[in-house]
Amino acid sequence: MIPEHEVKARLRDFGVAVPRGVTADGPPGIAEAAQGLTPPLVLKAHGPGLVHKSDAGAVRLGLASAADAAGAAAEMRERLAAQGITPEGFLVEEQAPPGVELIVGLVRDAGFGPVVLTGLGGVWTEVMRDTALRLCPIGEADAREMLASLRGWALLTGYRGAPAVDVEALVKLLVRLAGHGGLWEELDLGEFELNPVIASPGGVIAVDARHLPA
Ligand code: ADP
Ligand code: MG
Repeated sequence: MIPEHEVKARLRDFGVAVPRGVTADGPPGIAEAAQGLTPPLVLKAHGPGLVHKSDAGAVRLGLASAADAAGAAAEMRERLAAQGITPEGFLVEEQAPPGVELIVGLVRDAGFGPVVLTGLGGVWTEVMRDTALRLCPIGEADAREMLASLRGWALLTGYRGAPAVDVEALVKLLVRLAGHGGLWEELDLGEFELNPVIASPGGVIAVDARHLPA
């Protein structure tokens, strides 16, 4: 499996916003490598057995400094070892501001070919099953329609006094991935799942990215 930070580097090259981050083998390297990042920081471990990182305790949010991230990595390594998991390395990245969590996927349907999916992300993905699908390629009007068709649409446009998120940035993200010249054209490489993409009034950012090889 391609590690998260490499999938994110690829997304960044594609014009998709991802958090600034660094990787390191272990705590001493983290203390140094994460110096240039702006807290709060997020720590994640990667390697075999870490597909669903939170389930394994391999995600820590809200770390106040590079030194705290290094300390959290030492703890995390012990906790993972108790489950028989040895991380290949750690990712430390900047924590994105809160917002609405969405899932964005590029998958290949056996019958129809490349398909783009979006919906409410995070825990809501499974609970709500609130998703929209389109065949690739899509244009901006398709992307807007997809979002507006979600039951969770009201969460994006400002629900009960919460500010509206940057819907146009979401539209651009969907088209960048699934429009003409988008990442979907490289789907022979496999499938992509961004979960979550965090949408806020200030923009959208993919804070988790997984690639499933073809
Ligand atoms: P996994 O899906 O493998 O359990 P994630 O990388 O999605 O792990 O992290 C779990 C949760 O932590 C995400 O759903 C999101 O709420 C939060 N999170 C992860 N990375 C960041 C980040 N850089 N900024 C803000 N929140 C984050
Ligand atoms: Mg995730």
